[in-house]
Amino acid sequence: MAKVVCVLYDDPIDGYPKSYARDDLPKIDHYPGGQTLPTPKATDFQPGTLLGSVSGELGLRKYLEENGHTLIVTSDKDGPDSVLEREIVDADVVISQPFWPAYLTAERIAKAKNLKLALTAGIGSDHVDLQAAIDGGVTVAEVTYCNSISVAEHVVMMILGLVRNYIPSYQWVVKGGWNIADCVTRSYDVEGMHVGTVAAGRIGLAVLKRLKPFDMHLHYTDRHRLPEAVEKELGLTWHATREEMYEVCDVVTLNCPLHPETEHMINDETLKRFKRGAYLVNTARGKLCDRDAIARALESGQLAGYAGDVWFPQPAPKDHPWRSMPHHGMTPHISGTSLSAQTRYAAGTREILECFFEGRPIRDEYLIVDGGKLAGTGAHSYSAGNATGGSEEAAKFKRG
Ligand code: NDP
Repeated sequence: MAKVVCVLYDDPIDGYPKSYARDDLPKIDHYPGGQTLPTPKATDFQPGTLLGSVSGELGLRKYLEENGHTLIVTSDKDGPDSVLEREIVDADVVISQPFWPAYLTAERIAKAKNLKLALTAGIGSDHVDLQAAIDGGVTVAEVTYCNSISVAEHVVMMILGLVRNYIPSYQWVVKGGWNIADCVTRSYDVEGMHVGTVAAGRIGLAVLKRLKPFDMHLHYTDRHRLPEAVEKELGLTWHATREEMYEVCDVVTLNCPLHPETEHMINDETLKRFKRGAYLVNTARGKLCDRDAIARALESGQLAGYAGDVWFPQPAPKDHPWRSMPHHGMTPHISGTSLSAQTRYAAGTREILECFFEGRPIRDEYLIVDGGKLAGTGAHSYSAGNATGGSEEAAKFKRG
């Protein structure tokens, strides 16, 4: 029988909700492109409830305990005295969400002698040292597509929020003011602007599709080019290099995974290639950007705005400069954990666990590492190596 350690974010400060703003979720059968939603044999939760926090337990307890497994759920994940550090030693499975990542460094993987499966309840397994997982024969799986559209919606919201200067204008209302000039001196229309995505995978392409009706000029760069028919339908301009794309864009959005090839790809040097006053939206991973270079670019005016929901490490320390830099629209890491998304990735987590425990193959599209190598989606979109360096800094949040 297995021991499953599940690392989830804390419950709301007022306690686990007793009621919700809405009674149900819209029914969605397929993702764009035809991939089916998760297909576990059963689920033990009410769709639309809070599953991603400690008391929600991703709806897994009944299923795991009825099958004789042990489930440990904790939010205490960072530092040598954490519950995760203690429990990982004999864990067979570690489940973690990117919003509150259980950093599985090489040291932790070496300590976890029984670890067979690192399961990401969401998308993006960069919190796992993939090289160490490859070397240690640990399977890494994530719930591909579960929250791609959730994030795409967030990206569009953030682009509009920055360009139209929404957040400062909202704050004038809350403060009791009517300062129209203060609001509009940084407010523009997106119509006619050039917007480019680094990566046109599930999220990047969904962002482009959603921005098309705004009559923006659409650009992308990716390792693999989209089918010609898609480029034509959306009127896309493809760029062979990121830098070439930055030079023509008013808005840039990052939608690629974090892996050694993409770490710190936005830095002082690459920011010089941006148009002055460009907007940058990053909901992919904080470490795609050099933290201090972003703050410097906002202070100098090279960037007119920066928004996103991803930081490094997570949770971000209280003195993280992205909390206080000018013209930002940051949120905690929430875009992929709407209640709608949670329902899908909790079901996907259950599907992966059922496959794992019943000895059935995990869907190829969910695999990142398997059998000692990158596999499935991982083989297509990631590169081997480690992007967890510096994650021990996350323990600073506790002390901050
Ligand atoms: P996909 O796998 O569908 O898309 C990733 C795309 O990135 C692929 O098209 C891949 O290209 C491309 N890519 C990889 N490396 C590079 C590179 N060096 N330069 C340009 N493009 C590159 O994933 P999703 O769209 O669903 O998710 C993308 C990322 O967004 C995730 O990895 C995760 O980090 C982040 N994310 C954030 C969430 C949040 O809550 N904020 C939630 C979900 C995801 P190709 O396949 O052509 O090689």
